Amino acid sequence: MADPVISIRGLRKSYGEFEAVRGIDLDVQAGEVFAFLGPNGAGKTTTVEILEGYRKRSGGEVSVLGEDPQHGDRGWRERIGIVLQSCRLDPYLTVRESLGLYAGYYRAPRPVDEVIELVGLGGKADARARGLSGGQQRRLDVGMALIGDPELLFLDEPTTGFDPSARRQAWETIAGLRDLGKTVFLTTHYMDEAQRLADRVTIISRGEVVASGTPDDLGDRESLPTTISYRLGGEEVSVETTDPVADLHELTGRAVERKLELEGLEVTRPNLEDVYLSLTSEGEDE
Ligand code: ATP
Repeated sequence: MADPVISIRGLRKSYGEFEAVRGIDLDVQAGEVFAFLGPNGAGKTTTVEILEGYRKRSGGEVSVLGEDPQHGDRGWRERIGIVLQSCRLDPYLTVRESLGLYAGYYRAPRPVDEVIELVGLGGKADARARGLSGGQQRRLDVGMALIGDPELLFLDEPTTGFDPSARRQAWETIAGLRDLGKTVFLTTHYMDEAQRLADRVTIISRGEVVASGTPDDLGDRESLPTTISYRLGGEEVSVETTDPVADLHELTGRAVERKLELEGLEVTRPNLEDVYLSLTSEGEDE
């Protein structure tokens, strides 16, 4: 396999006495969408800012596009696009003007109109930033990060505060980045977002990795209880079990024997959100 785009070994970061990142290992391969998940205060921003070269680490090894971010030069920086949570848009510039201005900072920018199409702002090219909806402004932010034609993009909580339709549009834009062959490092609080977009997910809590894998085989979903629920004689019954097959066998066997109707019988397996909560429930801010 080719060298990973991002490689982290034993990363540590302390703020005074407080250890915010406590020995993180991870690799991100070229062309993948990688989701970095964790509750508030888990250490996501700290880690990402170290990867972007904005923060010094206290320990461990980090390589981003083959360089140590602490020593990344302009050439290295131009290979990276960053979409922060807060907007950096000039409200009085149009979409085309904003992108044109940013294009001037790069040696080999992508054509402005191509980027406008890419982020789905074709109909808004001449609208001023202040007249865009929140979702459209966010897409312009993504456009700003794409204008330098970076290989690697950092997206920080790209859909926080979005309504469902704006989220869906943002997801399409991000999926489009993968089609372009970009490597995307996405931080998010949303498990469904990671599940939808990411090739691989790493979950951190209190500065440590608690789970890592593809969205489908993340966490030990099998070990979380399954819920069996039904109505019997007008009563709602709900049982949690870690052995659903045997318990269902026994339950339905008895029901058939006694000719009982188990109305609304339902078996609910834990979903990814449950896995996430069970992995990180220890790690939330006190
Ligand atoms: P969120 O989802 O809320 O953005 P996060 O996972 O990005 O959280 P970080 O911002 O990396 O978390 O913070 C991790 C921990 O480090 C938190 O407990 C935070 O209070 C602490 N921290 C972050 N920056 C500093 C700093 N400059 N000085 C001291 N402590 C800090």
